[in-house]
Amino acid sequence: MSVETQKETLGFQTEVKQLLHLMIHSLYSNKEIFLRELISNASDAVDKLRFEALAKPELLEGGSDLKIRVSFDKDAKTVTLEDNGIGMSREETIAHLGTIAKSGTADFLKNLSGDQKKDSSLIGQFGVGFYSAFIVADKVEVFTRRAGLSAGEGVHWASKGEGDFEIATVEKAERGTRIVLHLKSGEEEFADGWRLRNVIKKYSDHIGLPIELPKEFHGEEKDKPAEPEWEVVNRASALWTRPRTEVTDEQYQEFYKHVSHDFDNPLSWSHNKVEGKLEYTSLLYVPGRAPFDLYQREAPRGLKLYVQRVFIMDQADEFLPLYLRFIKGVVDSNDLSLNVSREILQKDPVIDSMKSALTKRVLDMLEKLAKNEPEQYKTFWKNFGQVLKEGPAEDFANKEKIAGLLRFASTTEGEGEQVVSLGDYVSRLKEGQDKIYFLTGESYAQVKNSPHLEVFRKKGIEVLLLTDRIDEWLMSYLTEFDGKSFVDVARGDLDLGSLDSEEDKKAQEEVAKSKEGLVERLKTALGEQVAEVRVSHRLTDSPAILAIGEQDLGLQMRQILEASGQKVPDSKPIFEFNPNHPLIEKLDAEPDEDRFGDLSHILFDQAALAAGDSLKDPAAYVQRLNKLLVELSA
Ligand code: ADP
Repeated sequence: MSVETQKETLGFQTEVKQLLHLMIHSLYSNKEIFLRELISNASDAVDKLRFEALAKPELLEGGSDLKIRVSFDKDAKTVTLEDNGIGMSREETIAHLGTIAKSGTADFLKNLSGDQKKDSSLIGQFGVGFYSAFIVADKVEVFTRRAGLSAGEGVHWASKGEGDFEIATVEKAERGTRIVLHLKSGEEEFADGWRLRNVIKKYSDHIGLPIELPKEFHGEEKDKPAEPEWEVVNRASALWTRPRTEVTDEQYQEFYKHVSHDFDNPLSWSHNKVEGKLEYTSLLYVPGRAPFDLYQREAPRGLKLYVQRVFIMDQADEFLPLYLRFIKGVVDSNDLSLNVSREILQKDPVIDSMKSALTKRVLDMLEKLAKNEPEQYKTFWKNFGQVLKEGPAEDFANKEKIAGLLRFASTTEGEGEQVVSLGDYVSRLKEGQDKIYFLTGESYAQVKNSPHLEVFRKKGIEVLLLTDRIDEWLMSYLTEFDGKSFVDVARGDLDLGSLDSEEDKKAQEEVAKSKEGLVERLKTALGEQVAEVRVSHRLTDSPAILAIGEQDLGLQMRQILEASGQKVPDSKPIFEFNPNHPLIEKLDAEPDEDRFGDLSHILFDQAALAAGDSLKDPAAYVQRLNKLLVELSA
């Protein structure tokens, strides 16, 4: 045992304590994954060393035979993993193995339910990494030394996975990290060559560097050599460099877990080798679930970048647009230089063409998923639909393609679920229909009975119901699909074009003429509140409706802007009334201008309520209504 100096005991960050506790209890049924996680870390550490050694070859300290070794001791009940990667300094060890740097972690953990089954699937999306060692070990020791530091600057970290860990400075001759797991009683099965080999084959075969186990020794105990012979148990070639036909689905899935730190399988992947003017290989995955920090600005995103098989950086986010930030995977380029930096990536025209090709790949992959696996696509849409909706604004060139991937609720299908594609909609157009009609609102419950839909119901025309917060904003970027333009049914003077017959139109004109007097009276009564008053052709059951001016902000946008503290330009609605409604007939016949005024205001306020808006003066509404009720019962 070497001498330990500067020994101290430090507490884990609260989040680590919570995570450890949860993990030990909820991941128990899947405990062998600890090996996958530790090997994944070791492989990353070797990748980092290789990268740093490009600029500083002395970091290799003469040893460029990079590998991971897994050994075990049945008697001591230990499993040991050793890598000769980048290692950690004392400060790094404290930071990496005592805290969780991801922002939003505390909130995420707070939201866990305590229900072990549910939590274990949530924890998977979070990624537990190193701490998973404590699923099978009641004590974990780490011996590590950062490449480039002297042998005297080794670190010994030890913890029982409870509240704290010990850290000391020790002598460590070789760079890299050795992790010793002291197995819990009941977990001795892992101190076994056969078991370890199987787990490694199952989860880590895709790792691009050799993973070695001691060779089984069959002779007499007295002849056993002090140093075991080692044998490589994995395939040890980077998975994406292999031809597609030689990679099984399971291998693709395990590789996904390595690059994404996700516990679950991806929904889909696309593996491509591009040759020609540009040469690169990409392996892109659609995850099965949204990570908890999908909407966080600083959340990790982007692909793992390799140049000629050498790892260059994680989270290279220059290769995909923001609206595809949920895609995980690897891109390995032959054209970039090994000393490429983020600054260079941002300027390099090669990156631009790779970005547009990769974007297209992802959109194609999603199209295929939608077509061939509709159920899987539903899952995709639930998780990432909102993000994809950012697409039309960000990526003008692919607008039509993205639009085809969107899913909406509609008046004819799905009962509020977003399952209707624009392609579906267009395939069901009514004779004479050349527009795509939609209505935005706060919730399905609110819009599904909106008076704006009455005429469409009567004529059997489908209307898309858009109730996500960003839908109105989205629709400001989508002007047409498949040559059909979009029409917001709550906006402007609804013109149904050839969906209205010549007779309909004639009748409408006549009614409008006959109600000119009423229009004028209403204008006077409602005054400043309205931009215009007119006879409606879109109502069958409701007395009146408020339409939004063609150029005005809709309710959603107004609410978003108001919530963000911006000043919203004042806009007045158009008051449309249903000439055939008994209330309107009554109104028309009302000789008393005071009562006429009260009734008009009530109709106006009701129309605002039906549109999901709040009243400017609710007390006045109640007063007027009560006055009428009293008169009614008198
Ligand atoms: P993650 O791998 O998701 O970042 P982990 O908890 O698994 O989270 O690991 C935390 C950090 O500890 C890693 O990001 C890495 O910096 C460091 N680390 C873990 N294992 C090793 C290792 N074998 N060699 C060097 N650094 C390591």
